[in-house]
Amino acid sequence: MTGFGAASGQDRTPMVPAGATLQIAPNVYVIPDQRVNLVPNIGIIVGGDGVMVVDTGMGPRNAEIVLAEVRKITDKPIRYLAITHFHPEHGMGAQAFPKETLIVVPSAQKRELESKGRAYIELFSGFGPAIAELLKDVELVGADLAFGDRLEIDLGGTPVHLLHYQAAHTLGDMLVHLPEQGILFCGDLVVNRFFPIMPDADASPLGWLDTLDRLRSLKPGIIVPGHGEVGDATLIGELEAYLVGMRTRVHELKGEGKTLDAVRAVVVPEFEDKYQSWDNPNWVKNAVERFYAEL
Ligand SMILES: [Zn+2]
Repeated sequence: MTGFGAASGQDRTPMVPAGATLQIAPNVYVIPDQRVNLVPNIGIIVGGDGVMVVDTGMGPRNAEIVLAEVRKITDKPIRYLAITHFHPEHGMGAQAFPKETLIVVPSAQKRELESKGRAYIELFSGFGPAIAELLKDVELVGADLAFGDRLEIDLGGTPVHLLHYQAAHTLGDMLVHLPEQGILFCGDLVVNRFFPIMPDADASPLGWLDTLDRLRSLKPGIIVPGHGEVGDATLIGELEAYLVGMRTRVHELKGEGKTLDAVRAVVVPEFEDKYQSWDNPNWVKNAVERFYAEL
């Protein structure tokens, strides 16, 4: 199994970098993934009353690095940890956060962590000993605050909107929107020069396309993708073009009565060829499979 790029491309131990934190706007920071597989971009939002951190890195050791980066910026309390989705590198360092930090996620994500979290730890631990080591002491920490589709938080003069639309990358994807700064933390709903990941049968490419429409309507000026460099709204259009292109091809070929195997054999090389500058092409076949199932 070549899941999550861990067995392809590079196999560096997925550590959140110390000392690389970027300021992307006044009071808004990103710890960049530096394009290392299984390291996410991590957000730090500093409001008048305290801090919100977006995602943790994989396992408590990575989360400790995140906490140390926050302390280089501010000594305000970390009031909230917002987790974009349940995948191990995004939320499975939550136990390292202070007791007073409220963990906030959509209810759909809370349920998904409960039902699939253990299996994902086992899956990821199979990628290699370094990853197994990072995950071995993980406790699945439940949310303190779960919401349906929208929660507005005031960090003290800094409004933060937490949004959940529908199944897309996972069942419980969450976006963190800073409406005043026009910044959108997308989790893996948007990635930059990586193929989008549809890891299991709960991923919905049609839901994903609908979600991208909604992201665009928020008119973000800055997009923080789950993986890859911080960018602007063109990242939404690039991902949409990939998904629309694949939807069209799979629809045509399935309509001709071709089997999944036959469709995969045609479409995978086409898209690998067209997107040579994107990393982790092992994910193209999963996208074909999910479109084939939904169309
Ligand atoms: Zn993910």
